[in-house]
Amino acid sequence: MSDLVDKANKQQQVWLEAQVRQARLNAQPTDDTECIDCGEPIGEQRKRAMPSAVRCIQCASKRETPSNSPQSYKQAGGGQKGTKR
Ligand SMILES: [Zn+2]
Repeated sequence: MSDLVDKANKQQQVWLEAQVRQARLNAQPTDDTECIDCGEPIGEQRKRAMPSAVRCIQCASKRETPSNSPQSYKQAGGGQKGTKR
């Protein structure tokens, strides 16, 4: 019964690991410990996970908002269901 969930979790894990690996390959480690946008400390944990990070998690997530994400799809009024009552 939980096989499907298990499979999905594993697939996500594999995908995540691939993303992290790719990010590490692409990115050059930096010595910055403060966010280049707001000047707040990036955080040791984040820095360890992503040595190339130059922004704190807040600023980074503000920038990393792909226009084709499911969220913007919803905001654009896509999939208008549930109008019947
Ligand atoms: Zn910041």
